[in-house]
Amino acid sequence: MPEGPPEEVELMKSVVTGGAGFIGSHLVEHLLAQGDEVVVLDDFSTGSRRNLAAVEGSSALSVVEGSILDRPLVDAVIEHADRVFHLAAAVGVRRIVKEPLECLRVNLHGTENVLAAACSAEAVVLLASTSEIYGKNTSDGLTEESDRILGSPLKSRWTYAAAKGIDEAMAHVYFERHGLRVAIVRLFNTVGPRQTGRYGMVVPNLVGQAVRGEPLTVYGDGLQTRCFSYVGDIVPALVRLADAREAYGRAFNMGGSQEISILSLAELIIELLRSPSRIELVPYDVAYPQGFEDMRRRVPDNTKARKCVGFDPRTRLDEIVLAVEKSLRAQKPLDGASEAEAVPARGGKNSASATFR
Ligand code: UDP
Repeated sequence: MPEGPPEEVELMKSVVTGGAGFIGSHLVEHLLAQGDEVVVLDDFSTGSRRNLAAVEGSSALSVVEGSILDRPLVDAVIEHADRVFHLAAAVGVRRIVKEPLECLRVNLHGTENVLAAACSAEAVVLLASTSEIYGKNTSDGLTEESDRILGSPLKSRWTYAAAKGIDEAMAHVYFERHGLRVAIVRLFNTVGPRQTGRYGMVVPNLVGQAVRGEPLTVYGDGLQTRCFSYVGDIVPALVRLADAREAYGRAFNMGGSQEISILSLAELIIELLRSPSRIELVPYDVAYPQGFEDMRRRVPDNTKARKCVGFDPRTRLDEIVLAVEKSLRAQKPLDGASEAEAVPARGGKNSASATFR
């Protein structure tokens, strides 16, 4: 008996803005593994082609180099998309403090371009937002309804939270007024392989220092806390959120379940990596421009994401630290990358000047 034609499998076309970045590149790999056709739009300002090395030969992947500020380009890239994962943003406390105007432009006008294009294309949008929007609210378990306690918009740190808050508001208006199917995720300190310490992120920074035998720079008194979540736990949940009808028009926290002070994090890293490094407390005024305000505590309540898409951040911090260490050791410095980021291979010279060159 001849068999009937194979059942049609609907292929999804996903656009990932910021797809060459840390989280974006993990998401691209996941989507390709699911059988999606994927288009990356990235300006390579903080992302890199190296992040996509594992999938660069894939016929289902196209990479477009360009900015989300380029409206005609954004329209063209999104025109035939089913889903848009909007991860492109100017991120990293150090970059935001250094280039506040550029960051504001990208985070505001860029997102507006993406939302408008997705609306015309009738594509679903997953908008990546941030726990920064809660600002100085140190509550035990921030829910999506928690108040935002922000410092002055004249202080560059708060411009990021302000811009992301406007992005969320814009997305919500598109949902309510124009029927855009958009889900918002507020990410709390996502970490893992390929995250660079160049823009100030603490885990790759401290792991890199520990591997090179340099002092671990802990800012302030080190008693500020965070809940780090693993990129491998976040990415599948992002895709499920984009596909969940009940997620549209709503925001979801996604963070780790283990609260830890930065001082304890540094101690854990030294112990796990058996590093000869010591800890150096660096005053905020030295680490950042004067007047910088840090978040004392930031703890998510993930209940909503757990209920909606089964978000379950299982990877422990010690596993995360070891994964970051492995990735840093495997990484060769890019041309022009800071020497401080170069890391010796295991068993190599534990010296600040050791590089792969
Ligand atoms: N931090 C630190 N040493 C570093 C980099 C960061 O002590 O080398 C601190 C930083 O001041 C903050 C925490 O670690 O209190 C997390 O910083 P990160 O920039 O990774 O994330 P965010 O501040 O956005 O939570």
